[in-house]
Amino acid sequence: MCKDCFLKRIDTFATWQDFESFIQILEAKQEAGQLLLIEKPASIASSHNLTAVDGYYQCSSCNEIWALSSPDNAWRGYFLPLEIAIAHVQRIKITDRMKGIGGLILIAAALLFLLWKMLK
Ligand SMILES: [Zn+2]
Repeated sequence: MCKDCFLKRIDTFATWQDFESFIQILEAKQEAGQLLLIEKPASIASSHNLTAVDGYYQCSSCNEIWALSSPDNAWRGYFLPLEIAIAHVQRIKITDRMKGIGGLILIAAALLFLLWKMLK
């Protein structure tokens, strides 16, 4: 992270307008040669499956690699340094799994309640 790429990370794009104005800045930085669109870095193992990445950008000043994920319906996207993006996506996956488990517990509780009602 440096002044030539971005000083702030974006965990989510709050609105589509936020995303569009961000893309304009990104494109301007690309045109100025400050950021280069690069191939998916070899350092990303298949275990670090970064889903929904639209592009990897490398800063010509600090060499930081950024991952861009565009918002899509409920998905809010992100623009993060690679290492943070990997951790960010893993955190989201864990949260989703927890929500799934929470839902199952709720269903099980409802079924137990019904059973208890029927046996009473
Ligand atoms: Zn930089």
